[in-house]
Amino acid sequence: MAIETNVSASAVGAGVGAAAVGATDSTQAIIRAEKIEKYYAQPSENRIQVISATDLSIVPGEIVALLGPSGSGKSTMLRMLTGLSRPSAGQVYWHEKPISEAEINVSIVFQSFALFPWLTVIENVEAPLKARGIGPAERRKRSLRMIDTVGLDGFEAAYPKELSGGMRQRVGFARALVVEPEVLFMDKPFSALDVLTAENLRSELLELWSRKTMPTKAVFIVTHNIEEAVLLADRIIVLGRNPGHIRTDFKVQLAQPRDKKSEQFTQLVDYIYKVLTKPDVVPTEDPAQLQKVRDQRQMRYQMLPHARPGGVAGLLELLLDKAGRDDIYRLADDLSFEIDDLLPIVDAAQLLGFLKVEEGDAVITETGAEYANSEILRQKELFRTAAQENVLLLRQIRRALETKSDHTVPEEFFLDMLDEQFSGEESLKQIETAVTWGRYAELFDFDAARRRFVMPDVEEETLAANEEES
Ligand code: ADP
Ligand code: MG
Repeated sequence: MAIETNVSASAVGAGVGAAAVGATDSTQAIIRAEKIEKYYAQPSENRIQVISATDLSIVPGEIVALLGPSGSGKSTMLRMLTGLSRPSAGQVYWHEKPISEAEINVSIVFQSFALFPWLTVIENVEAPLKARGIGPAERRKRSLRMIDTVGLDGFEAAYPKELSGGMRQRVGFARALVVEPEVLFMDKPFSALDVLTAENLRSELLELWSRKTMPTKAVFIVTHNIEEAVLLADRIIVLGRNPGHIRTDFKVQLAQPRDKKSEQFTQLVDYIYKVLTKPDVVPTEDPAQLQKVRDQRQMRYQMLPHARPGGVAGLLELLLDKAGRDDIYRLADDLSFEIDDLLPIVDAAQLLGFLKVEEGDAVITETGAEYANSEILRQKELFRTAAQENVLLLRQIRRALETKSDHTVPEEFFLDMLDEQFSGEESLKQIETAVTWGRYAELFDFDAARRRFVMPDVEEETLAANEEES
């Protein structure tokens, strides 16, 4: 079991309303994943591990929220738990039967709504019933009732394009619930909606659930919104990445409905922020996990967070305004950022030594403060020094350029090395971010036509020489 740390109940402190999940009684699990792993084949011999061996059970009566940074494997996990995707190793059981052999009854609500645009509202809701071979009269009756339940009365004949995002997602819910799934899965179902609509739909869903008007026995929601998780969930699982693994898994023991402003609520939100912003918590007793963390430490390259230098500058300036220290949660709020958007910027600033994360607070460092206070040229200089000191990939690219007589290096050279560690797609993203940082710091430039890194000044000289010739 890949529980990374013991930062669960005890770290939250007594009375905050969370408790570590002990061994779940596996006999009553609806879905039980046993040591599931996922890796993707690579063109080279290497395979990229996306999820490391993980145990996870979904039991009746629980709303489970799955949190984690982008790319930590939340969607992959959902796909494996619903039988959409086969684990590369391990097994998923549906009522103790291998999921591929079982008759499973789950529905999934996606962020993108995924409605059939050529079908009306009622036809969309009827579609899964039709697929299950239910006759027209019964289909219609159940669909009408569900459309009513989700508040879409009167819109039966409308087409998706005529509806607002919130209403489209209501259709999504109706379509998911009409089959009376035993487990309802949702992948960021509210994130494409405006804040008020999302809030509204969330509380309606919660009401349906708590009034037991739906026969659904468990809900599993993937989200990037910590508040949403704490509002809805009986149990919260946080994934870490590279490869995806469970960092913490605990029960939320706050009574429903929950008050966002209550001390217990905010403490729990803060705690989860801390877990999310501290990817390097020292592992504890689990030897399997110790092994994995050591594997990670052997990785040569840090994972560059995909943030722009301008974002880092903006964050540091804001921090400076706040006397150099502020809660990351509050910063996200002030900037109206989703945590998923802010975390890469915090990670980047941290990687460069411009800030530290302490107890969920971002704290500006001396160089960070100097950077925020400086003029643009001095900022570039400070960024250049910080990048060379702290970021292996940038340092290597610069060194290679200095060493080569023509002062250029093909992208391939670094891609090959990155591919040992990251998926092909991620390696390309790493290069892209390295180029953004390298250009800003004037460490190197990138010639996209030739796919080569070049020295910034060398390129200028060459250009100048060419111009003289012509
Ligand atoms: P999340 O939902 O937490 O953002 P995902 O489950 O979508 O994360 O993806 C986890 C990781 O798996 C990412 O690094 C992603 O690039 C990788 N990944 C997902 N699907 C594939 C695929 N078909 N081939 C290779 N890598 C993949
Ligand atoms: Mg996802």
